[in-house]
Amino acid sequence: MSNSADNSSQGHNNPRLTRADCEVAVIGAGPYGLSMAAHLQAKGVRVRVFGTPMEFWAEKMPEGMLLRSPRVASNISDPAGTLGLEAYENACNRPPSAPVPLRDFVEYGRWFCHGLSDCLDRRNVVRLGRENGEFSLALEDGKAMRVRRVIVAAGIGSFKRKPVVFKHLDSALASHCYEGRRVRDFMGKRVAVIGAGQSALESAALLHEAGAEVEVIAKIPQLRWIGMHPRLHQLGPISAFLYSQHDVGPAGISRLVAMPKLMRHVPIGIRDRIRTRAVRPAGSKWLPQRLSKVKVATGRVVLEARAVGHEVKLKLDDGSDRSVDHVLMGTGYSVDIRKYDFLSRELVDGIRVLDGYPILTSGFCSSVPGLHFVGATAARTFGPLLYFVAGTDFVSREVAAYVARQGSGTR
Ligand SMILES: Cc1cc2nc3c(=O)[nH]c(=O)nc-3n(C[C@H](O)[C@H](O)[C@H](O)COP(=O)(O)OP(=O)(O)OC[C@H]3O[C@@H](n4cnc5c(N)ncnc54)[C@H](O)[C@@H]3O)c2cc1C
Repeated sequence: MSNSADNSSQGHNNPRLTRADCEVAVIGAGPYGLSMAAHLQAKGVRVRVFGTPMEFWAEKMPEGMLLRSPRVASNISDPAGTLGLEAYENACNRPPSAPVPLRDFVEYGRWFCHGLSDCLDRRNVVRLGRENGEFSLALEDGKAMRVRRVIVAAGIGSFKRKPVVFKHLDSALASHCYEGRRVRDFMGKRVAVIGAGQSALESAALLHEAGAEVEVIAKIPQLRWIGMHPRLHQLGPISAFLYSQHDVGPAGISRLVAMPKLMRHVPIGIRDRIRTRAVRPAGSKWLPQRLSKVKVATGRVVLEARAVGHEVKLKLDDGSDRSVDHVLMGTGYSVDIRKYDFLSRELVDGIRVLDGYPILTSGFCSSVPGLHFVGATAARTFGPLLYFVAGTDFVSREVAAYVARQGSGTR
């Protein structure tokens, strides 16, 4: 893997700043960053992707997890359509699995990288600024470079939502589902899992299976499950009319969500309602059975959490108490680009946002010329498909076509 992006001519303001050997820098090497690179390369654009490939999936998701998205919606898009999940399985002699195990998906993402080795750069970007109409990237090894166009594909890892009531607790006592703790470390421990979404419920199942004593505490009155109307999926052309293959959202909404180009023109109030409905907290249909022996308290909120020695004492809104060894927050995330700590203050201040999401136009351009955002940060503009891997196809095609039309400059 090449690490030599910093050569050629000197920058004029900063002696350490050199012009990158690329036209476009992509920050983040998850499904969106990798797919972006494949599409840009195919258009003849010199691109460099920063970060460790598939790091978030390999390091931060609960080990043993299964993908919630169906196989057909778990392909990282490439222009020729030859680097899908099935192609990976065939190439590596792996039997197809559904649901897709996390481990296989991580390996698939790494296999996808083979065709990109020239443009992968494992260094993290520690600071992105802008000077004289160009972007300056400071890298973790102290090197720096300039580039005209940047695509931020940095995922949701920075957006973890931690309820205030747990914020003061030490990380040994309370952690977020996306902090990559190993479930087997909780064997024999009492764990309160907070939340009712896929991450919370799947973590609860995994912890229970690893020998922890688990209780799920959820504020919704009843747990919900995805895909609990199988008959609606078995009506041939009617089902195809109601559901897209990505299967994000309920009947009807699923079809709309699959058209991000159209979603962008839906009035923001309705678009927000569709988004909230499509990704409301719910677990996959294969979870209820795995959770049948797990205690669940629904319609409950934790009012107080106190560390006492090695335990946490919880007080719930029905007056009941719990003593646990660990609180696991499956409380999702809230997009807020100010939490990307690599964005310089001046740059952030120049980006027009709506409730933390950048306001984007066609080509996924933000209000700063040459700066694009893809993945979850674009979901407010283009709808909830962009929270998922299934969105890589639309996004990469759109952005690559835009960049190819514009050239490396930022007109
Ligand atoms: C528990 C869980 C389960 C999920 N299950 C599914 C599922 O089944 N199907 C699905 O489609 N989606 C699922 N998702 C959503 C998933 O997060 C997105 O689909 C996917 O990660 C989007 O890809 P991405 O490239 O935008 O983000 P990521 O995969 O998060 O990739 C972004 C990468 O950028 C890197 N990065 C961040 N900052 C920098 C920096 N400064 N320099 C260099 N690199 C940087 C990060 O380390 C990360 O590796 C799940 C999410 C969670 C949390």
